Amino acid sequence: MHELSVVESMVSIVLKHAETNHASRVEKINLVLGEASSVVEEPVRFYFELLSKETIAEGADLNFRKTPFQASCNKCGKEFHIEGIDFSCPSCGSSETTIVSGSEFQVESIEIS
Ligand SMILES: [Zn+2]
Repeated sequence: MHELSVVESMVSIVLKHAETNHASRVEKINLVLGEASSVVEEPVRFYFELLSKETIAEGADLNFRKTPFQASCNKCGKEFHIEGIDFSCPSCGSSETTIVSGSEFQVESIEIS
């Protein structure tokens, strides 16, 4: 259950940001969740509810924006969706590719009042 530590750091980022901006409440938290991230939405919601209790983030809406698992080819520049464990370029066959999105979990923005 590594979501616990992930949510701990998420809540501390959110509260710090809210405090810096003199917020009285956190209304909404926009998160980016990559499709290849090991983080799962349900336990994040569960731990968030637990950890945000009696903070100004209690009851905030969690909005997940899912990003596709994408890579780009270092040779021909093509961006493609990674299926399974095949990371090679479907266009030129090169295995020199760079992941551009899909493995992340992060706070994108928060809405405060
Ligand atoms: Zn290529």
